[in-house]
Amino acid sequence: MLQDERAALGAFQARLPGALGETEGGVPRAIIDPETCRPEACAAGTCLASKVCPVKAIWQPERGELPLVDPLRCHGCGKCLAACGLKAIELA
Ligand code: SF4
Ligand code: SF4
Repeated sequence: MLQDERAALGAFQARLPGALGETEGGVPRAIIDPETCRPEACAAGTCLASKVCPVKAIWQPERGELPLVDPLRCHGCGKCLAACGLKAIELA
């Protein structure tokens, strides 16, 4: 995974105040740390966290790429945190 892709994801998340992070109603949302996330270390490049999300709020544009979180779908259940072996996801 290219370093500039990680930086781009971090910048993308940072541009969504109120969408990522604590949102309306105080519900926490999942945030993926692009520095810790290693899709290539997961199941053949497939994000394991995306497989357990009950509302499909995590997805990858392509296999092997950094996953993204849809803050409008995420309801902060925390299931993705348990699925990510690298602890690359947090609720905030
Ligand atoms: S399971 Fe964790 S480390 Fe693997 S791609 Fe998903 S968020 Fe990244
Ligand atoms: S916290 Fe729950 S709803 Fe949000 S991305 Fe993770 S598994 Fe999906």
